[in-house]
Amino acid sequence: MRALSQKHFIFASNINAKNNAMKKLISDILFACKRKCPACKKGSIFNSWFDFTPKEKCANCGVRLKDQDVGDGAVVMLIFLLGFTVIPGALIWEFASAPSIWLQGIVWSIVSVLTIFGLTPIIKSYILVLQFRHRK
Ligand SMILES: [Zn+2]
Repeated sequence: MRALSQKHFIFASNINAKNNAMKKLISDILFACKRKCPACKKGSIFNSWFDFTPKEKCANCGVRLKDQDVGDGAVVMLIFLLGFTVIPGALIWEFASAPSIWLQGIVWSIVSVLTIFGLTPIIKSYILVLQFRHRK
């Protein structure tokens, strides 16, 4: 009986650990959407809306953001995401209704550009938050 309750405890604690990890992941992603400094949670990370390079320092708290540069990590994640969504989407649309090639080109170009400009700062901010937390 004791072994069973011990296993139950381990199983329950694993579920709690997974739930906590999922909550932390979601809260980190939601925080990354704000594009704010991971130290003070107030200053902006990027110079402007279309400049995805981290600032030298946070204007609010002065922490060096340039040291946390994420390099090409965000772009690689984005390439994988677009490759696994745009190509199957175009193939499914082609086999389902065979639209003209120019329509496919326009639609998927717009989807790709919007995804790139929408997700690149979020993914970069997310990686920056993770680096800031684990490199301290
Ligand atoms: Zn700051």
